[in-house]
Amino acid sequence: MVTEMERGLRGDSHAMVKMLITYVDNLPTGNEQGLFYALDLGGTNFRVLRVQLGGKEKRVVQQQYEEVSIPPHLMVGTSMELFDFIASALSKFVDTEGDDFHLPEGRQRELGFTFSFPVSQTSISSGTLIKWTKGFSINDAVGEDVVSELGKAMERQGLDMKITALVNDTVGTLAGGRYADNSVVAAIILGTGTNAAYVENANAIPKWTGLLPRSGNMVINTEWGSFKSDKLPLSEFDKAMDFESLNPGEQIYEKLISGMYLGEIVRRILLKLAHDAALFGDVVPSKLEQPFVLRTPDMSAMHHDSSHDLKTVGAKLKDIVGVPDTSLEVRYITSHICDIVAERAARLAAAGIYGVLKKLGRDKMPKDGSKMPRTVIALDGGLYEHYKKFSSCLESTLTDLLGDDVSSSVVTKLANDGSGIGAALLAASHSQYA
Ligand code: ADP
Ligand code: MG
Repeated sequence: MVTEMERGLRGDSHAMVKMLITYVDNLPTGNEQGLFYALDLGGTNFRVLRVQLGGKEKRVVQQQYEEVSIPPHLMVGTSMELFDFIASALSKFVDTEGDDFHLPEGRQRELGFTFSFPVSQTSISSGTLIKWTKGFSINDAVGEDVVSELGKAMERQGLDMKITALVNDTVGTLAGGRYADNSVVAAIILGTGTNAAYVENANAIPKWTGLLPRSGNMVINTEWGSFKSDKLPLSEFDKAMDFESLNPGEQIYEKLISGMYLGEIVRRILLKLAHDAALFGDVVPSKLEQPFVLRTPDMSAMHHDSSHDLKTVGAKLKDIVGVPDTSLEVRYITSHICDIVAERAARLAAAGIYGVLKKLGRDKMPKDGSKMPRTVIALDGGLYEHYKKFSSCLESTLTDLLGDDVSSSVVTKLANDGSGIGAALLAASHSQYA
C-alpha cells in the first residue's frame, strides 16, 4: 500500500490509491469564530449541523445537528432528485435556527460540505465526482462539480448560503480531530465504507504543481478503499460478492473491511454451508438467498453474544434466516464465522493504518535516539464505534505491528462525528469574510 501511495502522489494514473489533493493546507487552530453550517453526505444517513464557534477561549459555544436517512431510491436515481432532497432538508434545518446562534448583520450563512466519495478537487470549494461507491450509483452526477450541483439545489429552495469548503469525511474527521487534539496526524473512517486522510509534506507530492503552501503541508485524501493487490487474499465469497456488486473490480480493500460488506460476506458463507453441508437442515432457507439481508450490526450482535446458549445468535437466525430452531452447534458455527470475517477485516484495517504511519515515518523510533513524537490517529465510523470485537482486534494488531516501544507513543482515538464539526471548522477558516 505504501508503494501505491507513492505512485498516487506522483500522479500515476494506474495507482491503486488515488492520493487526492484536498487543498486543505492548514488544519484548525482553535481561533475559528462565528456561526457555520455543515452537511455530511456519505452513506445511509446524512447529517446537517450548525455550530457557534467562540475562538480560542470559548471553543464550541453551541451546536445542533439532525440526521436524515436517504430513501434508497434516491441513491440510484438522478443527481437533481438527490440534491433537491438534501437542500430541502438543509433548508428546513436552517428555519429552526434559534437565538443562541448569531449571524452578524449583512452576512451570508456559510457551509462546509462533507462529501464522502472520491472527488477531484480544483480548489477548496470545488471538485468533480470521480465515481460513486458504497451503494450509490447516479450516473448523471459523475464528472459534475458537486458544489455547484448542491448550490443550484439550494437556490431552487430559496436558501441563501455559500459553500466555502468541500471536504471528504476523512478530511473533516482529521480537522475535527486536530481541533480536539494537536497531535492528530491522520484520520481513518470505518463505517459503511473505509478511507484515510493524513497530513503530507507538500514537498513529497510530485504531482502538486501549485505554489508551495506556506505551512509546507497538504492534507491528502488517500481513497485507500480502492486499494487492490494480488497480495490481498480474496476468497470465493469475496470474488462472488464483488462480481455481483454495483462496482465490480473496484473498492476491493473496502469490500474486505467495511461495514457495508462484512455481514454480506458472512451471509454468503452461511449460504454455502446451507447448500453443501445442510447447515440449516435439508432445505436451504430462502431468506438466506437474499443479498445483504444480514447486516453488519446483526453480525456484530451475534458475535458479541456471550450467553451460554448463544441466545442472540438463535434469535437473529430466526429473524433473518427464518429458521426458528437452531442447535447450539449451528449457533456456534455462525458465531465462529462472524469471528473469522471480523478478525480478517480488523487485521487488514490495522495493516492499512500501519501503512499510513510508515508513510509518515512514525512506524519506528527516530534514528537519532530522540523521543518518538506523540502520534494520534482519529478514527470514526459506525463499524469502529460500535463493533467492539472489531475495534479491539484492530488495536491489538496495530500494537503487534508497531512493537511496544513505538506503540506506546501511538494513540487511536474515537473522533465521534468529528467530520461534521471538522467541515464547519474548515468552512470557517475558508470563510469569504476571513
Ligand atoms: P456512514 O459510513 O454511512 O457515514 P456511519 O459512520 O454511521 O455512517 O457508519 C454506519 C455503518 O456502520 C453501517 O453501515 C454499519 O455497517 C456499521 N455499523 C453501525 N452500527 C454497527 C454495529 N452496532 N455493529 C457493527 N457495525 C455497525
Ligand atoms: Mg460518515
